[in-house]
This record gives sequence, C-alpha cells and structure tokens, in this order.
Amino acid sequence: MTYIPAQTTLSPDATLAAQAMAMQPQTVEARPALCLTFDDNFVQSWFDHLDLFDKYGAKATFFLCWPERISAKERDMLHQIQDRGHEIGFHTRQHVRLPKYLQSHSLEDYLDDQIDQGLEAMNDLGLDPRSFSFPYFRFRPKLIEPLLERFDILRLEGPYEHFKDSLSKRYANRTVNTYCFTDKTGMNLDSAYYADRFSWLKEQGGVGVTCGHFLGTTGNKFAKMRCSSDDLEGILALAQAHAFDFVTMADLYQPAPDLTAQAAPAILAA
Ligand SMILES: [Zn+2]
Repeated sequence: MTYIPAQTTLSPDATLAAQAMAMQPQTVEARPALCLTFDDNFVQSWFDHLDLFDKYGAKATFFLCWPERISAKERDMLHQIQDRGHEIGFHTRQHVRLPKYLQSHSLEDYLDDQIDQGLEAMNDLGLDPRSFSFPYFRFRPKLIEPLLERFDILRLEGPYEHFKDSLSKRYANRTVNTYCFTDKTGMNLDSAYYADRFSWLKEQGGVGVTCGHFLGTTGNKFAKMRCSSDDLEGILALAQAHAFDFVTMADLYQPAPDLTAQAAPAILAA
C-alpha cells in the first residue's frame, strides 16, 4: 500500500512536511472552501435566509454599514445571525465612495469618521467586528496598516475576470480578495459563471471568497445587487455538490492547525 502518486515530482531534498502536502492534496489545509460574504445593511433579507443557509450547513460573513440606521428589531436579528454561527463584519459607517470622499477629506478623516466612529456605533449595537471590507472595493494601500491595527482581516479587491488568481489560502490570512459575485439574479450571471469558478476552486483547493448583497426578490432598490432565494439555493447546492467547506472571514484569519501528527503515519506507510 502506497500513497505516492504514479508520477511524483518531488525533489530529492523535499522535506517530510512538503511530501505530506504533495501526497495529501485533500488535507484540511488544502480542502476547498467557500467564504460567502454579503455587504451593506440588508439585515431583514439576510435574516430571512438563515434556514436556507442551515439546510446546506453554510456559514457566511455579513459586512454591515450604516450602523446608526439599525433599528432595535434589526439589532436583534443581527445578534440571532451571529448566534447561528455567522459572522458580522464591518463595512464603514456611511458607505462612502473613497475616491470621491478623498477629494474633500484626508485618510485621517476616513479613519476617524468612517472607521472609528462607525466602530463605536457597532459597539453600541453590542457588536465587535473583527473583519472589514471596503465599499465598492475601493481602497488605498496606506489604509491597510491602520486598518489591520483595528481588524484581524480585510477583504480588499473585487472579483476580476481573471478569477484564477483570486483564491486565498485556508489559514493565517490578514487580507483576502474576492473571486466571485453571488448577486446571480441581479447581475444575470449564468450557470457557466459558477461552473467555471467552482471547478477551479475544487481543482486548486484553498478558499474562494464571494461577494453578494441583498437576498430575495422584493424590497431592494438596487437592481443589480440581489440574489433570489432560488438562485441562492442553486449556488449552495452547487457548493455542496463540490463538497466545499464553508468558512467565515474570522476562520480565514485563524492559524493553521498542526497537521504533522496526522501526516506522519502516511509517510511511514509509504
Ligand atoms: Zn457595500
């Protein structure tokens, strides 16, 4: 019995750990996972889909903006979302478009009134977000360091056409990029869009971070930023068919577990 693939490309001096990774592509580290993220403040629509997420064992990260507009009822929903295993991240206080904002403000202003004052409002809601995403995927490199002092992990770039460069590693990330939109209904994304991206993730392992907004069909004035319940179920079912894990942004920040103990017996057997 051997675990060595027929055509091995290991160099003679490959370490035991490297051999273990090469021979076990489906270790926890490499197992493909989706990190579903949803932005803005569509709290009711997110809350209405918790049972659907549960049906597929899916966890998501909801990046909240406009915390000062959150009603007592929505505050209660946000806590229930959290209690059911999802994460509430932060998406700025007023969802400003950064290039326009910087025409009349400084980066220091941004950190003060969009981040720190917004975090105070989040705390007033009883929320302590550890993950952050920039509205419109617009950021400045100079903001990354000060934001990493305030958060564990940041979501930076939006999905590119060249999604193949946009997967993340499973653990110990401080910044990640998105590789896929889940606004399937609003953006008219066809099934090939997901088939391509999900098979690439399956093949490569690691994590695909997705970005969506409103869930459902009514009550959103932004036509493109929506995914109907049926389309969301289609995406979750496709993820399940690919045997993807579901992880939150907070999970992506965690250090990798020590796998050497499990990997050693396979080496010895070979
Ligand atoms: Zn947004």
